[in-house]
Amino acid sequence: MGDDTESETDLNEIERLDKAHVFGTWSFQNEVRPRQVVGAEGNRFETADGEEYLDFSGQLMCSNLGHSADRVADAMAEQAREGAYFAPGYTTENRARLGEKLAEVTPGSLSKTFFSTSGTEAVEAAIKIARMYTGNHKIVSRYRSYHGATYGSISVTGDPRRLMAEPGIPGAIKAPDPYAYGSTMDPMESLEYIDEMLMLEGDTVAAVLVEPVVGSNGILVPPPEYLPRLKEIAHDHGALLICDEVMSGFGRTGEWFASDLFDVTPDIMTMAKGLSGAYAPLGGTIVTDEVAAHFEDEMFCHGHTYAGHPVACAAGLAAIETYESEGLIDRADEVGRYLGDRLEELQETHPSVGETRGVGLFRGIELTKRADERVPFGERKDKISTGTTVVDEVAARAGDRGVYVANMINTLIIAPPLSITREEIDEAVDALDHALDHADESMEGTP
Ligand code: PMP
Repeated sequence: MGDDTESETDLNEIERLDKAHVFGTWSFQNEVRPRQVVGAEGNRFETADGEEYLDFSGQLMCSNLGHSADRVADAMAEQAREGAYFAPGYTTENRARLGEKLAEVTPGSLSKTFFSTSGTEAVEAAIKIARMYTGNHKIVSRYRSYHGATYGSISVTGDPRRLMAEPGIPGAIKAPDPYAYGSTMDPMESLEYIDEMLMLEGDTVAAVLVEPVVGSNGILVPPPEYLPRLKEIAHDHGALLICDEVMSGFGRTGEWFASDLFDVTPDIMTMAKGLSGAYAPLGGTIVTDEVAAHFEDEMFCHGHTYAGHPVACAAGLAAIETYESEGLIDRADEVGRYLGDRLEELQETHPSVGETRGVGLFRGIELTKRADERVPFGERKDKISTGTTVVDEVAARAGDRGVYVANMINTLIIAPPLSITREEIDEAVDALDHALDHADESMEGTP
């Protein structure tokens, strides 16, 4: 528990107002300490107390374009002036062209998008579409996953954030993960288990829902054969494959989408975060021609007031044009390899680094409290908290050295803007190098 009196005195007026009147997300409210941001440029942001941070996690793994994407800001302002909002029955050039663009950059025959305002809503739509399309209601997802905060999406989420929402929606079934480092089950073996699960469910599953590269639950990249085989298994049992690319999409992995790494076209793909480079709340659920065709003479029973909001769509289109014009997807692949090499050096010098893993600019550092034994620092603060004090402290110490890095479940999550430079990577790795000393000192057997 934080010391309220002490932490309150170093809040400025805005931070105090915010703490009093705005909920902090996923937190004990007495521990929330909002920091006021007063500016941002490139890959850095500045807080009211004069501190500047290099953004090594793109905020919540979403600021893929950094903080100076003028083309996106201008497109939003222009659309807001032309007409900020029209009901979804009207369209705008930005919305139509964004739909067309997504059909172009997503794999295979994915071609028709339902727009919403968040990753959570994108997943909710995917669940409903799969249910309407198949006539089945069950969703198989995996334990090490996060799919959103509302009742449907939190029910299909596997990580501890789901526990407070239980029992959740009916038919949300969890499967094992492709987690070679920390699980007793081999990733390919876990697939055969899923095959059996679907059979035992009597082929009544609407969809298998996965993050093709797992994000907040530890940056898990499955073997190359995993996703193609999973799609085959799902289809063999009459289920669709939904790839949740909310975090992994838009260049994060060095490809447009993580599904591209595995040459797989899912039946439904969800997206948000990088879709607008985090300039506007925008989510999308894109389906294949085949799934889209189903709704020609069946009602598409879904919608929101802000489905396809003109200003958000303007941001989405301008964001994709920026990825293209600045060659950011290829850049993520190239600079990402450098990042991977630099992180491996940390593993060599810090016994508390159990594994560094990932692809492109989507990387994780998992800690261990016993060298060479893969034992997480497991002192969770409560049953739904996903942090541990050691990894929190490592992130805080990186912050003291001017580098913002997110963390979850014993793992530092590294997902900088795709515009990050090699020099900035060196700067951040240097801060992590110092911060990780704390984890080394916290290992079992350390005096
Ligand atoms: N799916 C995945 C894979 C995510 O990482 C997230 C958010 N971290 C969500 C869904 C939910 O997105 P949002 O927070 O925008 O609702």
